[in-house]
Amino acid sequence: MRRKQFSIVITALLLSIVFVFYAHADYSTAHVYKGNFKQKGTDLVYFPDSSVSAYGWTGAVDNAASKWSQASTQLNIRKVSSDPNFGTIAVFVVNNQLPPSAYALITFHEHTSLGWRTRSWTAVRDGTNFDRARIQIDHGYCMADGLTQNERWMVVGHEFGHALSLDHFCNPPAHSGSHWQTNSVNALTSPTSTDKAHLTWKWGN
Ligand SMILES: [Zn+2]
Ligand SMILES: [Zn+2]
Repeated sequence: MRRKQFSIVITALLLSIVFVFYAHADYSTAHVYKGNFKQKGTDLVYFPDSSVSAYGWTGAVDNAASKWSQASTQLNIRKVSSDPNFGTIAVFVVNNQLPPSAYALITFHEHTSLGWRTRSWTAVRDGTNFDRARIQIDHGYCMADGLTQNERWMVVGHEFGHALSLDHFCNPPAHSGSHWQTNSVNALTSPTSTDKAHLTWKWGN
């Protein structure tokens, strides 16, 4: 009897350790892509197309770049006014043009001997590196659904997270709570400690 109680306690302890491990330390490709920008994090730039200011998204884009940059000394995403293509997160705002129900999306592009090639997110997840990420935000869809300013800032922060090789924390084993890298919109204007832990695991502290 005693021995059985003891083994139950041990089992519960082990289960809680396993749970804590999954809740706080999953950096598998479910949450972090193997592939990434070919350029160093301190050499990255972001280029806001003129549509960004035209639709009033400048604050959201600047906030995303600066908050992620602050999360790692290995990252410094500088703003540029002309598009250098390489090492660039290019941001465009469109109006009722994305696939239905997409507030924003990102595409990845690699420069090869044959020219520019688009790389799927699954290829990036599995280890393909890239030279350029393009973010498109759909102003019309965001406004039609009444997204608040903070929610719009989160949407852009989320897409920048993808550009920096972070996937969705709602992918199993999921991290509970609201983060920039969950797939449902929230009003966080900064990445959470869980977001930052994944970023620094990928890019360094
Ligand atoms: Zn994780
Ligand atoms: Zn996403």
